[in-house]
Amino acid sequence: MQNLIKEKKYKELLEYIRDEEGEYIPLQFSEKSKNFNPKINITEIPKIEKQEKPIITIENWQESSTMEELNNAIKDCLRCKFGQTRNKFVFGVGNPKADILLVGEAPGADEDMKGEPFVGKAGQLLDKILAAINLDRNIVYIANVVKCRPPLNKTPDEDDYTPCLPYLKKQIELIKPKFILLLGAVALQALFGKTYKITHWRGKVINYGDIIAIPTYHPAYLLRTPSAKKEVWEDVQLLQKMYLEFKQEKKD
Ligand code: SF4
Repeated sequence: MQNLIKEKKYKELLEYIRDEEGEYIPLQFSEKSKNFNPKINITEIPKIEKQEKPIITIENWQESSTMEELNNAIKDCLRCKFGQTRNKFVFGVGNPKADILLVGEAPGADEDMKGEPFVGKAGQLLDKILAAINLDRNIVYIANVVKCRPPLNKTPDEDDYTPCLPYLKKQIELIKPKFILLLGAVALQALFGKTYKITHWRGKVINYGDIIAIPTYHPAYLLRTPSAKKEVWEDVQLLQKMYLEFKQEKKD
């Protein structure tokens, strides 16, 4: 017993001793207590297993169990050429347990400077659209298919978004949203394939696994084509209706 180093843990609750090999062994009795038995048979006491969390890095980012872990793991990604020219990696923003996920295309100049999606003019319009259906950025989650700005704001094609798409899919896996609002053709085609045309599918409900996806036009398109606001308004009203029904069902 003289060779044992006693360490007091959790004050009154439990005490530990450490044997010669440095392993922790719980002691049920206080040294000051009458029941303390210095000849306690240490072989009968179960050993405490030390559980160390694996460190999540870019090599094992798929093992991330939270959005924060995923962000930390992939924020220095250089998997494609967009990583070479970005200012800031744009992971996403909002409630990591949101029922509604909004998926856009890629960061623009403002987003690239700030490291947050939809902060330019298109973002301000998106905020107004969300407010019109009683939502805001703290309730939903907003992410892009591509996390780094394509130079000259190029619209990402399939070759451009393919290296980044697994990150969005992992975000969907972690958030587990009930609804995805797909903002524009890139978001629609990245998740459903090149044959899905936004002009045909906007305003329709598509199943992405057990998630309800509703495609609509990208806010940047609305800035160029204000006449499309009517369709987007119909699409987000559909989202709002289904979301309210879902919340009501949860209450019942
Ligand atoms: S765009 Fe995506 S795949 Fe390309 S460097 Fe950025 S995070 Fe990596």
